[in-house]
Amino acid sequence: MPQIFEDTQTAFALKSDAELERAYFLFKLIGNQPLVKIGAAVTNFAIKSHLPVEGLIRATVFDHFCAGINEKDCMPTVDKLWVKGVSSVLDYSVEGKDTEDPLDNALAVTLNILDFAKEKEAMPFAVFKPTGYGRFILFEKKGAGKPFSASEKSEWDRVVKRFEATCKKAHDLNVSLLIDAEESWMQDAADELVEEMMRKFNREKAVVFNTIQLYRWDRLEYLKKLQKKAAQEGFKIGIKAVRGAYLEKENERAEEKGYRSPICSSKQETDENFNKTISYILEHLDTISLFAGTHNEESSWLLMQLMEKHQINPNDSRIWFGQLLGMSDHISFNLAAAGYNVAKYLPFGPVRDVMPYLIRRAEENTSVAGQTNRELELLKKERKRRKI
Ligand SMILES: Cc1cc2nc3c(=O)[nH]c(=O)nc-3n(C[C@H](O)[C@H](O)[C@H](O)COP(=O)(O)OP(=O)(O)OC[C@H]3O[C@@H](n4cnc5c(N)ncnc54)[C@H](O)[C@@H]3O)c2cc1C
Repeated sequence: MPQIFEDTQTAFALKSDAELERAYFLFKLIGNQPLVKIGAAVTNFAIKSHLPVEGLIRATVFDHFCAGINEKDCMPTVDKLWVKGVSSVLDYSVEGKDTEDPLDNALAVTLNILDFAKEKEAMPFAVFKPTGYGRFILFEKKGAGKPFSASEKSEWDRVVKRFEATCKKAHDLNVSLLIDAEESWMQDAADELVEEMMRKFNREKAVVFNTIQLYRWDRLEYLKKLQKKAAQEGFKIGIKAVRGAYLEKENERAEEKGYRSPICSSKQETDENFNKTISYILEHLDTISLFAGTHNEESSWLLMQLMEKHQINPNDSRIWFGQLLGMSDHISFNLAAAGYNVAKYLPFGPVRDVMPYLIRRAEENTSVAGQTNRELELLKKERKRRKI
C-alpha cells in the first residue's frame, strides 16, 4: 500500500475509542460471508414483517455507514468531516420506489440539499440516482427503444422534468451535481438524458456529472465519443468514475438471457480499464472534470501521480477523490491532509428505506476480496497505536 495511506492516526482522528471498537466489531461481522447472507435475509424479513429491529440496525450498521435519517441529522457529520478538510455529498439513499409520491419526494429532497449546499462550503456537490426520479422499467423500456403507452409517455415527461429542474437549480446555484449509475439495462436512457443536461448546463464548466462504471468494458469508448461531441459542440463533461456495484446481477442476467456480459472478464481487467480511463481523463482535463469514486489505493495513488505528471495542483477544482462514509478513511483523510479535494458520500434516509443500500455495502465488503481485511488491518493497527 502506498505509504501515504498507512497513517492510521490521521485516518481515524475523528473516531473515539468506542467508535473505533464498533467499526472493528462491524467489519469482523461483515467479513463472515454466511453470516451476512443470513443477516441480510433475516433483516429483510424483519423489516417487511414490521418487527422492531430498527434500533438494532441503527446501533450497528446504520450509524457506521449512514449519517442520519434526514438532512438535518447529517449536519454534525458534515461539520466534523470539514474540520479535517473532507467535504460531504448528502446522498438520499432510498431506493427502488415505484409510485409517484416517493419520486416527487426524492426530487424535493435533492432540491432542498442544493439549497443547503449553496450555503455550506463543506458541501460542494449534490447527488441523485436516476431511479430515484423515475421507475426502473421506464428507463429500461426507453433504452431498449420500446414504444411507450400514452400514460408512460407523460410519466417519462415527468422524469425529464425532474432531471431538468435539478440540473437547472444546480447550475443556477453553482453547486455541482453527481448523477449515479445503475444497472446496464436501464443506463442507456439515463446516459442520454444526462448528456442532454450536460449540453444545456455545462457550457462554462462541469456542473452536471454522469457516472461511468469501469467494470463495463465499453465505457472508455463511450467516454471518448462523448469527449468528441463535447469538444465539437462546446460543452464540458463531468465524470464520476467508479468500478461498479452490480457485478453479480449483471453477470447473472447476461447468462440467463444469453448475451455477452457487459462486465470485464476479471478484476484485473476492471482495474486496468479504470486506470486507463482516469489517465485518459487527465489528458482531456480541458473538457472533462473527474470525480474518482473509489476505495482502491492503487487507483487513488495513480491519480495522484498523474496529477503530478501533468503539473496539476492537488486542489485543482476539476479533480475530486470520493469515498463512502464508513469506508476507506485511510484514503479520504490522508488525501485531505495532503491538500487534495476529497468528498465523502453521506447516505441518509429512514432506516427501513436505506436497507437495500446497507445490504449492498455489507455484501460488497464480504464479496470483494481484501476490502474487509484491509479495513480490519488498519483498525487493528490504530487500536494498537492507541493501546486499546
Ligand atoms: C463515492 C462513490 C460513489 C459511487 N457511486 C456509484 C454509482 O453511482 N454506481 C455504482 O454502480 N457504483 C458506485 N459506487 C460503488 C463502486 O462502483 C464500487 O462498487 C466500489 O467503490 C468498490 O470498488 P473500488 O473502486 O472501491 O475498488 P476495489 O475494491 O478495488 O474493486 C472492487 C470492484 O471491482 C470490480 N470487480 C470485482 N471483482 C471483479 C471481477 N471478477 N470481474 C470484474 N470486475 C470485478 C467490481 O466493480 C467491484 O465492486 C460508488 C463508490 C464510491 C466510493
